[in-house]
Formats: sequence, C-alpha cells, structure tokens
Amino acid sequence: MTATTNRNWPFQAPDSASELLKIIKEFPSFREFRCTCGSSSRSSPLDIYATCPNCLMKFKQRSFGGGPEVEDFFDAVLEWAGRADAREFARRRQRDIQNDPDFED
Ligand SMILES: [Zn+2]
Repeated sequence: MTATTNRNWPFQAPDSASELLKIIKEFPSFREFRCTCGSSSRSSPLDIYATCPNCLMKFKQRSFGGGPEVEDFFDAVLEWAGRADAREFARRRQRDIQNDPDFED
C-alpha cells in the first residue's frame, strides 16, 4: 500500500556526515500523507507504519534494507539516549541545546 506524502520519504542517508547533519537539522516534525480514500493526515516521521484515520488503511512508511535511511540514525540516537546509564546525560544535553540562543523551536 502506498500513499502520497509531502516529501520523498524515506530519506536515504547521504555519503557525507556533514550532509547527514544538515538533513537531520531540517528533518520534518511530521509526515503528511494523502490516502487513496482521499483523506489527508499527519503521522510521525519515525513511525514504521501509519494508519489512515478515515478508512483505517495501514501502510508502511519506512523501507528496511537497501541501505540506511536518515530515520535509522534517529532510531540509533534514541536507543542510545534511552539506555539507563545514558538517560540523564541525554536529558542534560537536550536542556543545554534548548537553552542555547541559537536553538530554534
Ligand atoms: Zn484512507
């Protein structure tokens, strides 16, 4: 099942680290999609599956295999930040970033 989305999802990981950082900084906060039933909705850009709120059609948003996607880097960082021994460090760094005058919310 495919759906029309607002960007070319998923984002294939670039070869250079600087390009990857740029893509992550500009990564959309949500994914917009139009289902084949005509309904439009938003989903998490990191979710593997999305469900149309109108017809409950479920479709895959991410493709596994064939090389890493940018979403895979988010998963790796979130997994690290969720470790019991790293959680507080991750929260502290997130607070520092959000308190940085250059941080854009
Ligand atoms: Zn639908």
